[in-house]
Amino acid sequence: MLESEQRIEHLLVIEDNQGKRTIALEAATCSIGRDSTNSIVLYSHLVSRQHAILVRLTMPETATYMFRIMDGNLQGKPSANGLIVNGRRCFSHDLQPGDVIMFGGDVRVRYYATTNQSDVIFLTSAKAEDVSGFLANLINPFQLLVSSDPNFENSHEAALVRLASFPELTSNPILEIDMAGNIMYLNPAAVMEFPGIREARLQHPILAGLVAKAQNSKEEVFVREVEIANKFFEQSVHYIAESDLIRSYVVDVSDRKLVEAALKKAHNELEIRVEERTAELRKINEQLRGEIVERQRAEEALRESEERLHAILDNSTALIYVKDLQGRYILVNAWYGILFHLDREEFKGKTDYDLFPKEIADVLRVNDHKVQEAKSPLDWEEVVLQDDGLHTYLSIKFPLYDATGVPYATCGISTDITERKQAEVALRSSVATNRALLDAIPDSIFRIGKDGIFVNFKAAKENNLPMPASEFIGKHLYEVLPTEVAQPVMNCVEKALSTGEVQIFESQLLVNNNLLDYEFRIAVSAEDEVVAIVRDITERKQAEADIRSALEKEKELGELKSRFVTMASHEFRTPLATILSSTELIEHYSHKCSEEKKLTHLQRIQASVKQMSGLLNDVLLLGKAEAGKLEFNPTSLDVTKFCRELVEEMALTVSNHITFCTPIQGLTTYMDDKLLRHILSNLLSNAIKYSPQGGTVHFDLVCEQDKAVFQIKDQGIGIPVADQDKLFNSFHRASNVGTISGTGLGLAIVKKSVDLHGGKITVQSEVGASTTFTVTIPLTN
Ligand code: ATP
Ligand code: MG
Repeated sequence: MLESEQRIEHLLVIEDNQGKRTIALEAATCSIGRDSTNSIVLYSHLVSRQHAILVRLTMPETATYMFRIMDGNLQGKPSANGLIVNGRRCFSHDLQPGDVIMFGGDVRVRYYATTNQSDVIFLTSAKAEDVSGFLANLINPFQLLVSSDPNFENSHEAALVRLASFPELTSNPILEIDMAGNIMYLNPAAVMEFPGIREARLQHPILAGLVAKAQNSKEEVFVREVEIANKFFEQSVHYIAESDLIRSYVVDVSDRKLVEAALKKAHNELEIRVEERTAELRKINEQLRGEIVERQRAEEALRESEERLHAILDNSTALIYVKDLQGRYILVNAWYGILFHLDREEFKGKTDYDLFPKEIADVLRVNDHKVQEAKSPLDWEEVVLQDDGLHTYLSIKFPLYDATGVPYATCGISTDITERKQAEVALRSSVATNRALLDAIPDSIFRIGKDGIFVNFKAAKENNLPMPASEFIGKHLYEVLPTEVAQPVMNCVEKALSTGEVQIFESQLLVNNNLLDYEFRIAVSAEDEVVAIVRDITERKQAEADIRSALEKEKELGELKSRFVTMASHEFRTPLATILSSTELIEHYSHKCSEEKKLTHLQRIQASVKQMSGLLNDVLLLGKAEAGKLEFNPTSLDVTKFCRELVEEMALTVSNHITFCTPIQGLTTYMDDKLLRHILSNLLSNAIKYSPQGGTVHFDLVCEQDKAVFQIKDQGIGIPVADQDKLFNSFHRASNVGTISGTGLGLAIVKKSVDLHGGKITVQSEVGASTTFTVTIPLTN
């Protein structure tokens, strides 16, 4: 066997970043790695500097040797990415032809041991795992398959050798045919696997088409897959030109197929799962991105709102703080810092105990606790000592809650209300003053709208209005006041509103059957509203009337005096002159005067004195009457008789004709005979005196119902109309009396006397024609 002497080549085919190259193994030991100091340099950064060691092992008692590859460097330090031999990780491995070693994942190295190139190709496609150990004992395992003897079946020795050879032992079928399709060799595995192959020859699926394919194919080797009775085979077909044979190496790949199918299915499922997961992830990613955008937006909004909050806080003149539950400041506004002379940042983390005296801090701490427990904001007033003195603050304090409703801080907002407080005190005192003033005013005050409707009121203490002041509210002027009052008040309201000036108006109102005087003062109080101050001025009016009448009396008295003086100077002078002249005549000429003459003078004196004393009597009587001291003593009196006797008495002293007429025979009633004498004698004497031309004076007495009517009528000078209503004033005399003497007291006495009887006196007169005085006196028993 010359072949045994043939030299076996040990080759490594390396595929790395540098490309593909073949190295022949010679050295006893070589190092493999990335570093350039290695015997075999592999170009990949995934390969360690010293990745593996290759050691040549010589078989004892043979010239054969093999190679063992070991992970790591000579010092035993393992490589970073390990060794993968034929897909399995290992630390040490005796190389078998066809082994594939992966270094670092991307460097692929194949090991071959061969005598020629075609065997190398064969080996690269054969699955040699199952011949491990066997090959190691062979000098040349390949020579057996390359027989130069075409009739090798006849060679017993060859058969024996073959029996012990690799193809005979391998579980994979090996078949050889010649180009004519004759089966040249079947190994035991082939005979077992394909029982009827010798009969079927080229008809057998594993041999079908091989010859044609080998002839047509330019390549010396190809691989095909054949399915036979639900089994799958991978068939490596080699055309061996030297021997003109077609050799097939068959591997049952059914399991692999099944696994592959299962794998594919699993892969597909995985794909679907991955697809789903990817979709899910994409969706989640979208959501996440949305959430991130949302979050960014929210953060932006938060930042903006925080900035705004700070701007608001810092522009506020209130004191604002936020403290945590331990009383540490989280935030204060600018003003807080300014007030306590601290930078606002310095407050952070500090408590009131760090900032204020203990007593104050104690109080603040107690307050904080109250606030924390409070269900709603608390407010109270606090006094703070500032640079310019004590200030009063109104503080509103409330707890801040987190999202779960648990309080995590307290917040306080304090506003300086010092000025307001002062104003309040001032206002309160001014309100009290005003209230006192209003209460002190006896007037009723009403607010009236421009439409004349009562809006509000302040009643006077004593209500003396047509109805309670409260009932005015909501009503119109015309509803509560009589038209004659409401109308002018309304006019005043309008005028006040148009001119802005206070309008004053007086009027009378009937209240509880009393006619009371009122003054309405109307002033504008608002754009379309007035205030009406209503004052009861009845007493004032009465006082005014009293004063006026007193003045009148005073004036009258003055006039009376002057008239008295005038009268006295005139009426007393005549009798006094008479008395003087008569006494002088008696004094100087008594010796020459007859007794008769003397008597005449003495009678003149007496008459003058009588005249003066009558005059004085009248004055006294009137004075009495004026003083209300004139006595009225009515007695039962036969009036008819009294009149007749009076007329007879008077007729004696005068030349005029007086007639007394009465239809009544006898009228007895109660009257004061003295006063009745004054009445009738004065009226009769006037009628006679003011009828210088003479003429009859008519005196009539009639009875009308329960009155006695006395009527005295003359045809004298009459009384001018201008004088008629003044006749009863004392000392008043009409303008047409001429030289007719008189004092002007008679009618005054008459009037008083008539009044005392409760009667009436009237006058009717025409100048130069006639005058009639009528006295009516009620009859009493
Ligand atoms: P005496 O005090 O003396 O009566 P007197 O007659 O002037 O004076 P009164 O009797 O009071 O005063 O009368 C007042 C005035 O009235 C008179 O001065 C006179 O002008 C006028 N008078 C009164 N009666 C008549 C009358 N019958 N005819 C015209 N004038 C009269
Ligand atoms: Mg007279």
